[in-house]
Amino acid sequence: MTRTFFVGGNWKMNGSTAFIEDLSNSFTAASHVSKDTEVVIGAPYVYIPLLTKVLRKDWGVAAENCHSLASGAYTGEVSAEMLKDVGATWVILGHSERRSIFNESDEFVAEKVKKALSVGLKVILCCGELLEEREAGKTQEVVNRQLTAVVKAISESDWENVVIAYEPVWAIGTGKVATPEQAQEVHFEIREFLSHNVSAKVAKETRIIYGGSVTEKNCNEIGKKPDVDGFLVGGASLKPSFIDICNAIA
Ligand code: PGA
Repeated sequence: MTRTFFVGGNWKMNGSTAFIEDLSNSFTAASHVSKDTEVVIGAPYVYIPLLTKVLRKDWGVAAENCHSLASGAYTGEVSAEMLKDVGATWVILGHSERRSIFNESDEFVAEKVKKALSVGLKVILCCGELLEEREAGKTQEVVNRQLTAVVKAISESDWENVVIAYEPVWAIGTGKVATPEQAQEVHFEIREFLSHNVSAKVAKETRIIYGGSVTEKNCNEIGKKPDVDGFLVGGASLKPSFIDICNAIA
C-alpha cells in the first residue's frame, strides 16, 4: 500500500502544562511505536510551543483551527502564518465542532484550507454527516458538498498535503463508533468522489482516516478496511494507551 497509515490525536480544549508534559513523556517512553505510522497531535493554540518542545520528534504538531487571513483587526483569532511561526506543521480544519458550534460554512473552511496550504502547513480536513442526515440517506451528499468547496479552492497538487478525516458527527464523543463496514463504505465513496472531481492520482494517494469514538479496542478492525488509512482520535488520544491506536496495523 502506498498510503502511509496516519493517526491524529485531537486534544480539543483539554490539557495543561503539567498534563501535556506527562502525556508526552509517556508517549516518548513507549516501548514500541510503529515506524509505519505517521502520528500528529492537535493541541490548543497556547500549548503549541510547549508541544513542539516536549513531544517526541518523530511526531508532528497540529493546531485545531486557524483563520483564513494573515493578520489584522480580528480580535481573538490566530492565523496560519502564526501557527507556522511557532512550529506547528499541521492544522485540523472543518471539524464538526467548528462547523456546528461556531457556524463555519463549507466555503469558510475551504478558504482556511487554501490559506494553511499556502503557508506550508499540512491539513487534516474533517467532513461528516449528522445523525438525521444519515437517517435521511444523505451521508454522501453532505460529505460531497463539504469536499466540493475545498476542491474548488485548491489545486490538484495541493492534495498531497491534505489528509481527509471522515467523522460521522453521531459517532464523535458518543461511544457509538461506526462499524468497519460503514466507515469503509463512505471512505470508498470519498475516493470515488476524488477520482471524478480531482484526479485518479489524488483518489489513489490521499489518505482518508476515520474519526468518531475510536479506541484501542475497536481500532484494529476498522483499520483493516482497504480504504481506511488511519484515524483521528479525540478522547482516546488523551491517554497513554493512544500508542496502541498508533500501532493498530503493526
Ligand atoms: P472522539 O473525537 O474520538 O472523542 O469521538 C473524535 C474527534 O472529534 O476528532
